Order: sequence, then structure tokens, then C-alpha cells
Amino acid sequence: MAELEYKIIVGLEIHVHLATRTKMFCGCELAYGDMANTHVCPVCLGMPGTLPVMNKQALEFSILTGLALNCQIASFTKWDRKSYYYPDLPKNYQISQYDLPFSEHGYIEIPTEDGGTKKIRILRAHLEEDAGKNIHTLGNFSAVDLNRAGTPLLEIVTEPDMNSPDEVGALARELQRIVRFLGVSEADMQKGHMRFEPNVNLHITRNGEVFKTPISEVKNLNSFRAIERSIAYEVARQLHEFKETGKTLQMGNKSTYGWDDDKQMTVLQREKEEAHDYRYFPDPDLVPVEIDDAWLGEIKARLCELPIQMQQRFTKDYGLSDYDASVLTADRATAEFFNATVKQGADAKRVCNLLTQTGLKLANEKGTTVDQLGITPENLAKLAQMANAGDVSATAATAIFEEMAAAAGNPMQIAEAKNLIQKSDAGEIEALVDAVLAENTEAVQDAKTNPKKAKKAIGFLMGQVIQKSKGRANPKIVSQLMNQKLTS
Ligand code: ZN
Ligand code: MN
Repeated sequence: MAELEYKIIVGLEIHVHLATRTKMFCGCELAYGDMANTHVCPVCLGMPGTLPVMNKQALEFSILTGLALNCQIASFTKWDRKSYYYPDLPKNYQISQYDLPFSEHGYIEIPTEDGGTKKIRILRAHLEEDAGKNIHTLGNFSAVDLNRAGTPLLEIVTEPDMNSPDEVGALARELQRIVRFLGVSEADMQKGHMRFEPNVNLHITRNGEVFKTPISEVKNLNSFRAIERSIAYEVARQLHEFKETGKTLQMGNKSTYGWDDDKQMTVLQREKEEAHDYRYFPDPDLVPVEIDDAWLGEIKARLCELPIQMQQRFTKDYGLSDYDASVLTADRATAEFFNATVKQGADAKRVCNLLTQTGLKLANEKGTTVDQLGITPENLAKLAQMANAGDVSATAATAIFEEMAAAAGNPMQIAEAKNLIQKSDAGEIEALVDAVLAENTEAVQDAKTNPKKAKKAIGFLMGQVIQKSKGRANPKIVSQLMNQKLTS
């Protein structure tokens, strides 16, 4: 059979843990990795007669994220109960938002390969609570840990606007960068702070007619690799299934799949699932929330420049490569530290190199961020200026950066104390050049008259001068003087 023409269609449901101090509807602290059931209270244990109270910080974090995703924020929003009969949420329902979510109709811009962006529409974002964890690995029984039950969970639903595994991966990474910039989530994938559920199907064209394959929902993906690979796998599987069976999408039908990371394949969990009837109804224990203009204005004031906008600004204004700009904007601390340093008048490209090649490595080794290395933007700007002026070599600049991080201090003082100032005094260097030329007549002869050996001979002579200066002669000036003398 000839290869079929097809388009990949993917929408995403994303759950993000918010980095509040306490849970969504009670005062229990959020804690990862603590002993099971040590962060629980009558409210999150679902005891009868207890009353939930909304965590205001969680709602503000959610609204801030909604604004960053260009969503419309509702002035009136409410809480609903969604039936949930599993031991990891002992109330027997999840508090969520049904028909009146706090935000709708936004979009997120994701980077594309050509350095541009693509808009992916956001259908809605609402706030709910997470369940605990059922544990089946202790023996011939199951246990439940309710430390996580009641964690504020922001659910974001996109329109099916993504058309490749790469685009879905790009959206996941962009969203991670946004919530980290906003400080609303640590977004640590390994800790389950972000979970992704792609809905995947294909629009296949055959003989001028378009066939839609049944939609697969892949549950609970918590790594970028799993997202990209599971979608690629589904594309191949659905294409194969269509060729074999010709099966197409029936209204409302959706099958649920899990991702087996060991076998690198999706595994069918539930077939032909009908639209659920969760028996949503307004939670009588919680008052609706009114968000007035004054409150919304306060939250809006906390918005920062978004990472993708910063990345584009860095390439446009400073001529950085898209790659360098993406490295600098991977986290807010680095991006703002770079910004602050360049504002001191330093050359952006030089600062970028110092930060990405030395700063991030050091920060990584120390488990911190570049702004916490003990170096001020002023001193980094000075170092960049020294390197650009040729006062210190690139190698010396790295050494000075490391010394500044280890013991603080002014880059010029460090350079002087460590004898790292390059000699740029032409008279002083000329004396060294003359001495070297006098001592190496054979190389001088080669450089002047033997085109085959000239390059090597000049390199040798340059090296001799640098060595005589104990590595401190400015190579640019050595080269200039050497050329003058060899061609005269
Ligand atoms: Zn609690
Ligand atoms: Mn949900």
C-alpha cells in the first residue's frame, strides 16, 4: 500500500502542583518525601463535619498563571464536587471547578525550530485538589499515603493545536519555564509536580477523503521524553491500526492508554470510554469567589516578562544566538542576572559566554543559581570589560570568575594579585619580539621565505614570545608586531 498522508492532532491536559506552603483547603503543610500520613488533618482525611477553607495564595498563583497564558479571568468563579470513589481521596469526591472555571480562552506561545513561535490555544484552566497515593508495593495488601491529598492542583487544558511530538515537548518545556519564572511551581517532573495527558489522533487523507482515527488519551506522563515517545508510538500504532481495520473515530469515544517506559510502548487501559458522568454539583461548603478589578490589578502587577519574550529580546537586541538566549532564559535567576549585568554597560556576548560557560557550571556544582555565587552584576560587568579590552585573556577571565565566586572581590584586584593582567604595552612586547627573532634565525628565515613552513614558523615564534612573557603578553599585540617585523 502506498504511504498514507496524515496530520497528527494532539491536545494536552496538564496538572501542575502549586508551590504554596499549605494545602488547598486545609492548613496541612505540603511536603514531599516525608513519612506517610504525617501531613494530614480532619479536613484532608475527609472526616464528617469538617469544613474546607480556600487557600488564597493558591488562587492567586493560578490567576497569575492564567494571565501569563493570556486567559480571560472570570470575575465570578465557584467550586464543584466531582465524584471520586478511590481510597486516595477519602471524602469520596474531589473539589474541582466545573462550569465556571476561574479562567478560559488563552494561548501559550511555544518556540519553533526556525526561531519563531507558534500559538497553542488554551481552552481553560481551573483549580482543584490532588489525591493521595495508593501504594501496592509493601506486600500482599495495599496502603495509602494521604500527604499529597489536598495539594493545590492547577489543571490546564489546551485545544488540539499541536501537530508533532516535538511541538508537544516544546509546550511542556515552555510551560515549565513559565511557571518557574512566575514562581508558582517548582515544576520538578521527577517529583510529579507536572503531569501530562496527551489526546492523540490522526487525520488521514485517502483518495481525497479525510478519516479521523479514534482518540487515545495517554495518562499521567511525567517526563518530557515519555511525552514525545508515547506520542510517536501512538502515531505509528494508529496508522497501523487504520491500515489493518479502517476503524475511525465515533462520537465521544476515547480509549485510555498508559505508557510502559520499560517496553517503550503504550498499553491499553480502558476502551470505548463514554463521556463520564461525574455527577458534578456545587460544593455547599465553599463560598463562590468574586475577583474584583482591584484584586486582579494587584495580581497583574506581579506578572514578569515571560521567558519566551526575553529569549526573543536577547537575540534581537544583543545579537545572541537562539540557543544562547534559550540557555540564559531557562531560569529566571540567570535571565535577570544577565539583564542586570548588561545594564551596567557590559558587552552582552561576553557576559553571555562568561555566564553560560563558567557561571552555570559553577552554580550547578554548588547546587545554586548564578545570582547566588557571590558575584555582583557590577563586578561581572567589569570583568567582561577587562576581557573585551584585552586586559586579561579569555582563560584568565574564567580563572578570575572562579576566584570571584570563591572569595568575592573586585576583578581588577584579583587579576593584579594573581598576575593575570595581559601586557599590552607595545614597547615592552616589542623588546620580547626582537629578542625572540634574534634567537631563532632559522624560524625567521622560514617565516619570511618558505611559504610551506611559514605558518608553522610564525606560530612557533608567537609561542616563544608568550612564553618569555610568562603567558602575559597580549597575543593580539604580539601578532601585530610580529607581522610588521617579518614583512618589513
Ligand atoms: Zn489537612
Ligand atoms: Mn484534573
